[in-house]
Amino acid sequence: MPRFVVQKSSWAFLGAFIVVFLRGVVCGTIFSMGSGNIEAFFGNFELCIILIVIMIGFVGMGIVLFVKEKKIKTLKNKLIVEKINDAYDSEGKKIRIKESSYNKKRLSPKKEILRELLKRSGNRCQFYPCPNVIIDYQEYLQGHVVSIMSNEKNQPNYNPKLSNEGRIKIDNLILLCHDHFFEVKLHEKYGINILLSKKIEAEESPNRDQNFESSDEILEELIQGYIERYL
Ligand SMILES: [Zn+2]
Repeated sequence: MPRFVVQKSSWAFLGAFIVVFLRGVVCGTIFSMGSGNIEAFFGNFELCIILIVIMIGFVGMGIVLFVKEKKIKTLKNKLIVEKINDAYDSEGKKIRIKESSYNKKRLSPKKEILRELLKRSGNRCQFYPCPNVIIDYQEYLQGHVVSIMSNEKNQPNYNPKLSNEGRIKIDNLILLCHDHFFEVKLHEKYGINILLSKKIEAEESPNRDQNFESSDEILEELIQGYIERYL
């Protein structure tokens, strides 16, 4: 049974919905019964008003939390993009890469990086909450590793600041099932922010067991797929 990461704002909106429901039941009953007893009607009328106020409170709280959560997500993604974009010289000093001075080399992801990525994914597609496995029970590869941002102009999610090394950093790599691979890379349906958020959600999800151990053969097959397509 998949467990989803529920945002606080969703709880607030659920609260509002419950209050709306209660108000409907309580006030509906009062209004239909109230005509015979004016005092009872006005006594309970206050209750209706209180429920409406609580409902507005919940909705307001939901909106505030939602905006805050969205801001945090965007900031988190920005920091990750910066981290991926960072490049260093031979002495370990941070350097800035200019697109014009920049020689594109096609590098393939390192085996150990992919081992770690598969571990973090819990052997599931990282387009959260997609439950598809990357390696099936017969040890067949059912997915792909791709770069979220690319440094080639004709490819989806092009980032001119991205270096050859940045392209194969773990933060820029995502494991996708066949369906999501087609949607993301061939139909170019999703942008950088959506992909980064999906990957973070997948890696932070409590229901994905992060002890998955992958064989060397599978890792080589994943790398081979990446080299062939270079997406
Ligand atoms: Zn998927």
